[in-house]
Amino acid sequence: MQTDSSCLFCRIAAREIPADIVRESDRLVAFRDTNPQASTHILLIPKEHVRSIADIEDRHGDLLADIAQAAAQLAAAEGIEESGWRLVTNVGPDAGQSVFHLHFHLLGGRQMGWPPG
Ligand code: 5GP
Ligand code: ZN
Repeated sequence: MQTDSSCLFCRIAAREIPADIVRESDRLVAFRDTNPQASTHILLIPKEHVRSIADIEDRHGDLLADIAQAAAQLAAAEGIEESGWRLVTNVGPDAGQSVFHLHFHLLGGRQMGWPPG
């Protein structure tokens, strides 16, 4: 599995940098965002270094299924399965991607607007 020792999220996944990890499996890690934009703001990442969802390959199918299921289970654990939640991933500058290791934001616990600003 490819990792990048200079990548912040690879280092969080390797537990070299502390984070509030709420879930871990062989393929993924989920941890709370340090600058939360909602009462629930959890980042779900693959342990493998993948730059963004634009670099997903056929072999990542199981990983994406794991992330979707983990997001739904975390939303239930956070008590927002009924009120609603959002799972979003940013790609590139216009979307505001600032960390170039694939991550999905799980957001919930407040009313969210659409489209995003
Ligand atoms: P992006 O802007 O790339 O979609 O999202 C990156 C997210 O990572 C931001 O929401 C930011 O607050 C979060 N973040 C940046 N550095 C750290 C960190 O060191 N620890 C944690 N837990 N989150 C971080
Ligand atoms: Zn990485």
